[in-house]
Amino acid sequence: MPPAFVLRPPLVGALRGALAAVSPVSCAGCGAPDLELCGACRDLLLPRPVEAVHAGLRVVTALRYEFEVREAVLAYKQRGRLRLAAELGPALRAAVDVALPPGAPPALLVAVPPSPSGRRRRGWDPVTTLARAAGVTASVGLLVVRPGRSSSQKRLDREQRARARLGSLRCRVDLTGRRVVVLDDVLTTGSTVQEARRALEEAGAEVVAAVCLAATPLAARVAA
Ligand SMILES: [Zn+2]
Repeated sequence: MPPAFVLRPPLVGALRGALAAVSPVSCAGCGAPDLELCGACRDLLLPRPVEAVHAGLRVVTALRYEFEVREAVLAYKQRGRLRLAAELGPALRAAVDVALPPGAPPALLVAVPPSPSGRRRRGWDPVTTLARAAGVTASVGLLVVRPGRSSSQKRLDREQRARARLGSLRCRVDLTGRRVVVLDDVLTTGSTVQEARRALEEAGAEVVAAVCLAATPLAARVAA
């Protein structure tokens, strides 16, 4: 006879249903129920580092920002599913390792800061949190000195975005002679990493590359 505390299957199902009602969880990529991330979506987050050159800057990205990958990144960034940092971190790490292979001269990783409105809304910083999960240290030397025009930014083309970004970041530390890699989450037109590069070079840095977790299909066309 089974011990009294073993729940029979109907009770297990009822309990799971009750828990789902209290704390519903579904795969961040495809929405499959009862999982933080399903096996198929976890496979889609396996890093596939791609190198491209954007306006003379070497950019390494680990994932393609579309479909389930985009959903998972959005769940992490916009819906506060911080546990996904552990799932996304290895991809960022793989891209960092391509940008800075063993034996390469060391470089400081500098995170692109969140916009002031993003920081207020979330209360945490997606890029540095992701870097920690990737096992790398990201410096927070860059400051947003002028908010981007984010509400209309999605409708701007590449040149308009670059103009809107120009002068929006400033580096608050002297980086004279330091090799630096820019770190960001999603690469779209490249205007943000280029603005980060400009601000870091103004502070004396030699910007050797940028690393982003994921690149939109648009980013691939911009680089081509
Ligand atoms: Zn899934």
